[in-house]
Amino acid sequence: MRGYLIAVFFIVAGISARAQHYKYIDSTKISGTARYKRQVKANPDKQLVEIKQYIPTIVLDIRYATTNNFMHRRMYQQPKAYARLPVVKALQAVEADLKTRGLGLKIYDAYRPYSVTVKFYEMASDTNFVADPRKGSKHNRGCAIDLSIIDLKTGKELDMPTGFDSFSRKAAANYPAITKQQFANRELLKTVMQAHGFKVLNTEWWHYDFNGWPQYELLDIPFSAL
Ligand SMILES: [Zn+2]
Repeated sequence: MRGYLIAVFFIVAGISARAQHYKYIDSTKISGTARYKRQVKANPDKQLVEIKQYIPTIVLDIRYATTNNFMHRRMYQQPKAYARLPVVKALQAVEADLKTRGLGLKIYDAYRPYSVTVKFYEMASDTNFVADPRKGSKHNRGCAIDLSIIDLKTGKELDMPTGFDSFSRKAAANYPAITKQQFANRELLKTVMQAHGFKVLNTEWWHYDFNGWPQYELLDIPFSAL
């Protein structure tokens, strides 16, 4: 009987913890591990793959796995970057394009579990810069990438209008009052990403959405389960 009561307690506690995560959205719109696995079986393109495995030369600077981010908190347990398979294939083409100029990509963030988006919103709640959990983020779909360009010789980032996750007006993808060099670098990123199926977010020069994003579900799977 006692064991039974303990089991009931954990089931109820589990359900309410889950319900809390999904207070902004109908839970049927979010895929956990089991639902995600069924979706991948039906369409292998839905697989989340580790970007570094497909593009070994890519540089990762996963800020949410450190305290160097706008939350000043570690939001990810592991400094990893995942995205849906077609997104990673498109990034492969971007990396190859940049390589011909002696340049490469640096990634700040890619797939982000839905529950992390909820935490961002509850702590920042400026939907110009953090996604509204009633809609979710394209990062939750494995279809958005935050990135910049590095010089392959020095490993240094090209000069861009702001740093990653700056909440200033200068972060806007078309902000005009920047240096000529910053303008050229920002436009180069835009040109090469657009050529391979991505679109920049108007408020953030570093954020790109994969054009095919509407066919991919919102996910809430921790990196450790991938
Ligand atoms: Zn982003």
